[in-house]
Amino acid sequence: MRLILLGPPGAGKGTQAKMLNKKFDRPQISTGNILRKSIQEGTELGCQAKVLMNEGKLVQDEIVISLIRERIVEEDCRGGFILDGFPRTINQAEKLTETLNNMNLSIDTVIDFEVSTEELLHRLTGRSTCSGCGAMFHIASCPPLKEGICDSCGEALYQREDDNKETIKKRLEVYENETTPLREYYKKQGNLKIIQGSGSVEEIFSKVCLMVS
Ligand code: AMP
Repeated sequence: MRLILLGPPGAGKGTQAKMLNKKFDRPQISTGNILRKSIQEGTELGCQAKVLMNEGKLVQDEIVISLIRERIVEEDCRGGFILDGFPRTINQAEKLTETLNNMNLSIDTVIDFEVSTEELLHRLTGRSTCSGCGAMFHIASCPPLKEGICDSCGEALYQREDDNKETIKKRLEVYENETTPLREYYKKQGNLKIIQGSGSVEEIFSKVCLMVS
């Protein structure tokens, strides 16, 4: 299973990737998570990425491409992987295709999650994430049992710095300009599948599972 989850911020890629990881035991590779970890650890990469991320802009292609190249050759990726948030530009997609070709591999399925802008704004502005396990909550549709505390692992919840109205607007704009051309790219490769990303997490997951199996 070599899978790409495509879709705007707030489309549910991260949530679905986690569920797929649990069910199929394939690693979720989220460039956003890798970058956030680097910021937390105060690495040079983290310092470089932080400003761009907080402005809702994309981190340089060379950086994320090299992160992915290093990650997909790791042992746990032998049976496949779930890419969540990568690729985000045509250049990234081309470099991924090239890297996989060199390994005699290819992407099996690309799932594009379609969600209305109104719904995305609603989801992102009310979203909180667990600092321990990465579980996600929403102030209205999926509140934690105890405010500010993760139901699953008991760690503290936080709101991502880029989940504020102004930055969200920028992220959606960047998505439209830089990432939507990937639909055409993968359509041409013949492996694009589209999912209406509204509905319950479980409903969407059932559709996702049908697409990957
Ligand atoms: P995400 O967690 O996927 O929403 O990503 C959060 C932020 O990390 C994005 O807004 C970008 O600034 C950066 N980022 C994550 N993945 C990529 C990527 N593939 N290319 C460029 N920037 C990325």
